Amino acid sequence: MAKRDYYEILGVNRDATEEEIKKAYRKLAMKFHPDRNPDNPKAEEQFKEAKEAYEVLSDKQKRGAYDQFGHAGVDPSAGAGAGFGGAGMGGFADAFGDIFGDIFGGGRGGGGGRSNVYRGADLRYNLEVSLEDAARGTETRIRIPTMAECDTCNGTGAKKGSEPKVCPTCGGHGQVRMQQGFFSIQQTCPKCHGTGRFIADPCNTCHGAGRVNQHKTLSVKIPSGIDEGDRIRLSGEGEPGVNGGPAGDLYVQIHLKPHSMFQRDHDDLHCEMPVGFTVAALGGEIEIPTLDGIAKLKIPAETQTGKVFRLRGKGIKGVRSHAHGDLMCHVVVETPVKLTDRQKELLREFEEINRGDAARHNPKAQSWMDKVKDFFGG
Ligand SMILES: [Zn+2]
Ligand SMILES: [Zn+2]
Repeated sequence: MAKRDYYEILGVNRDATEEEIKKAYRKLAMKFHPDRNPDNPKAEEQFKEAKEAYEVLSDKQKRGAYDQFGHAGVDPSAGAGAGFGGAGMGGFADAFGDIFGDIFGGGRGGGGGRSNVYRGADLRYNLEVSLEDAARGTETRIRIPTMAECDTCNGTGAKKGSEPKVCPTCGGHGQVRMQQGFFSIQQTCPKCHGTGRFIADPCNTCHGAGRVNQHKTLSVKIPSGIDEGDRIRLSGEGEPGVNGGPAGDLYVQIHLKPHSMFQRDHDDLHCEMPVGFTVAALGGEIEIPTLDGIAKLKIPAETQTGKVFRLRGKGIKGVRSHAHGDLMCHVVVETPVKLTDRQKELLREFEEINRGDAARHNPKAQSWMDKVKDFFGG
């Protein structure tokens, strides 16, 4: 069963502060507490769910891991118990900079007259990675859209030679008071949208925004062992903040390209291995491809379709488990095709001898025939 997103469970944004998370959890805990909902298994389930979400999101390290890898990053059953923050994480964390760093929380309603200071939005980039690159780790470059300061007006938004003026509606506060019945409500100024500035003569390049659309190229380190659905957080590479607020983060979401030979299942690899029927019958040695090159595999005599050979350590070294997975080779015995007259002749001769003691040489086919006979009451 797919687990729900922790932020969604608590009903908070991904950039929620510790205080907001605590408040949201308290509200849910009060609502769904078993003492208040006797004999209500659904409420109990929701209580447990909220508790689990809170335990992760209230812990700075666990939250960082969750933000980067989702449930796999914090679920003890998913990562062979390796967990985060251990000594083994050092190199990995270094490679990414501050991946477990504090998530920016404050910033809203910042200093003095500049009212609307916002952290920029988080962005997501979907990155397709080949199985080989995911297994070995790599570095790649991505091109993402971004907003940059307008060169023409140096970010002021005003035409050359003019300057932005203080907004006449809010007097530069960015906020206006509105009377609504008995209440006086503070609202973002509708004229300047909270900037506190008014541009009479906007810049032709950016039309007064002070920023223009551009692209930037970023280098992304892909750690070895990364898997489908993992995320890499590039701190501060999201949308720029508003009015001097900090930038959001960029999340690089990993998708694995299908591979012509291997299917990945966590750290294990699976492949189909066609075996000629004489080798399957007599035994022999065959060469199989692995991510580290060709490996030799002994096929014992009398090998059947469906048999699985496990090559220990020939899978993928997990990004969190730090253990090597295995390569599972699934045997498919191949019936020969396009036979020559001579081959047919030999097989017919073979079949004649075989038929003399079919129960011994084809026990499965024989017992199946017996069942068929039973079925028809023979
Ligand atoms: Zn401009
Ligand atoms: Zn205003």
